Amino acid sequence: MPSMASNNSSTHTAKSDFYARRQEIEKHRKALPIAAAEKRLLEEVRNNDILIIVGETGSGKTTQLPQYLFNGGFCRSGGIIGITQPRRVAAVTVAKRVAEECGVPLGQKVGYAIRFDDLTSNSTRIKYMTDGLLLREALLDPYLSKYSVIIVDEAHERTVHTDVLLGLLKTVQKTRSLGARDIVNSGNKKDENGTLLGKENGVQNTGILKHCQSTKLSPLKLIIMSASLDAQGFSDYFGGARAVHVQGRQYPVDILYTNQPETDYVDAALITIFQIHLEESPGDILVFLTGQEEIESIERLVQDRLPKLPESKRKLLVVPIFASLPSEKQMKVFMPAPVGFRKVILATNIAETSVTIPGIKYVIDPGMVKVRTYDASTGIEPLIIVKTSKAQALQRSGRAGREGPGKCYRLYPENEFEKLKDSTTAEIKRCNLSNVVLQLKALGIDDIVGFDFIEKPDRMAVIKSMELLFLLGALTEESKLSDPVGHQMSRLPLDPIYSKALIVASQFNCLEEMLIVVAMLSVESIFYAPREKLDESRTALKSFSSTDGDHLTLLNVYRASEEFLEKSKQVNSKEKTENNLRKWCKENFINSRSLKHARDIHSQIQRNVEQMGLQITSCGDDMLPFRRCLAASFFLSAALKQPDGTYRALSSGLTVQIHPSSVLFRMKPECIIFDELVRTNQNYIRNVSRIDYLWLAELAPQFFALQE
Ligand code: ADP
Ligand code: MG
Repeated sequence: MPSMASNNSSTHTAKSDFYARRQEIEKHRKALPIAAAEKRLLEEVRNNDILIIVGETGSGKTTQLPQYLFNGGFCRSGGIIGITQPRRVAAVTVAKRVAEECGVPLGQKVGYAIRFDDLTSNSTRIKYMTDGLLLREALLDPYLSKYSVIIVDEAHERTVHTDVLLGLLKTVQKTRSLGARDIVNSGNKKDENGTLLGKENGVQNTGILKHCQSTKLSPLKLIIMSASLDAQGFSDYFGGARAVHVQGRQYPVDILYTNQPETDYVDAALITIFQIHLEESPGDILVFLTGQEEIESIERLVQDRLPKLPESKRKLLVVPIFASLPSEKQMKVFMPAPVGFRKVILATNIAETSVTIPGIKYVIDPGMVKVRTYDASTGIEPLIIVKTSKAQALQRSGRAGREGPGKCYRLYPENEFEKLKDSTTAEIKRCNLSNVVLQLKALGIDDIVGFDFIEKPDRMAVIKSMELLFLLGALTEESKLSDPVGHQMSRLPLDPIYSKALIVASQFNCLEEMLIVVAMLSVESIFYAPREKLDESRTALKSFSSTDGDHLTLLNVYRASEEFLEKSKQVNSKEKTENNLRKWCKENFINSRSLKHARDIHSQIQRNVEQMGLQITSCGDDMLPFRRCLAASFFLSAALKQPDGTYRALSSGLTVQIHPSSVLFRMKPECIIFDELVRTNQNYIRNVSRIDYLWLAELAPQFFALQE
């Protein structure tokens, strides 16, 4: 537009950059495999209230479909298009990308909401969120009435939240089409309590239906998206719903195996990174690792080795991506490496199907994944590292062939592949269900075993979870949500034991302390102890350690960081203060990313408890009430010292050991409570605190009296 041309050349450049970027984005969008199917998909959504869309990873489902629907008029009457993701990282990065594609600031037309972080506004029409968050929204708005379309993305992941959401949405969807057609306009059958007899319409009769008569509801479009080719299961579950397939694009990927099993896959991955970097043609590398600690350790090892290479070979850029990485850092994986550089992305299985990173030519797959497991007989829920399934291995190798032929290095011998399980067991079959039970109860769904799950959880696991909730005081003897504890617990976005700890703390006058400790417990690894600096890191930890245990040590770290921040703020700019804090963290061997995450969580849960009307008071210097409070909430993971220095966990009977990272590792008090059990070759417990054995019977008689 010549009339708008400015004689200021820098503005001119900025403008042409802007237009060039927009053109590039448009070109990219049009080239995606899904683009050719836009019209057909819109037609399908118009004609089908429930639609299943299956398409290869990277075809454009997650980023494009919501935009097509928006442009196709699905938000016209003010409705929102909600897209759920099993992973926080996907919700955030995809929302950012889509906002950019739409040319709008994030949080306006396009936004995201995840636990502890909501970037939406009244004008948001395309909302990315985690499946767990939408479940929480259902507590306040049982019909999810502000949504005109809900897309359950990555349904093949079958997280427990996705499974519960599918059951809930099935009812909501039917209710809302009834609401629009029958309920509002015609007489409807009710039972003696005025509850709609939903079964007549094929709808499970749940509490959701109770308010239905009074609300004018518009129908809901429900879309289930999956990267697995097996759509039949979803279709059957939704009464033979229509399934469509979106064609993807896949180039050949050369699969390489090792000759021998690797004893240390982290080391093997490191060697392979350098082997590719030094011997293979240009192209980025994606490495699948199991968690933050592993990623950060490889990150450091690569950085340490790079200076030892000849100068011309040092152009390797390492970028990590995992859930608790601050979101601005997560976006770095999508940025192209500087000219001449090779990018190596260290990812958890986030990069398997949830996010597609451009430029990948090489994949390194150690064949491992970290999963939460649950043993209903002992009630323990350790995180363990297990082999991937065949389906996961195939998805991972597929990431190398998105833009051209690629290579995948599986760090195990070929005959091992055949031994892998075909697909991963749904999470609902292997997790502690207490959170799910609590939420379903809060939604008015009392018959958990009778709930219409796509795959039923084991009866024993349901019973165990109810028992746990009863012991925590969230359920009554009749298995109803208790008042106020059960209701309060269901409103907190935390594990039931943490919620219980906050509620108890408000009675023990130490909620200020417990908020900090729960926030610190909610993040992965606050401390880091690099192998080569083990002694230094131990000395640093000493200045924070409390002889009472790790919980109070975490409290000391948080408070010390607060104090440091306060002082620094008085004399420095915000930016300088943040830099200083990072430096302080480094000196003290504290993970600054994790600390920042904990600070964010802290402010959110503080708001939550304030809204619930709990009093935030501090116990000051006397830590006795705080420790008693730990006993009153973590009593299910109390353990007693045995003559050989190991511990016996009282509720499960398991023999456990204090993890060497605990401040109580050497001290070994008689009676302790712990937060987490990690199973490697030993049963290690982490985050351990000293309590008095007698407190257990006094503060948790419902459990310890039963034991006698
Ligand atoms: P699907 O959901 O079918 O797996 P997506 O919609 O996630 O596919 O991805 C489509 C394309 O968008 C991919 O080529 C991917 O590289 C690109 N993309 C997604 N997110 C980003 C981002 N944050 N930055 C740059 N490109 C992105
Ligand atoms: Mg996707």
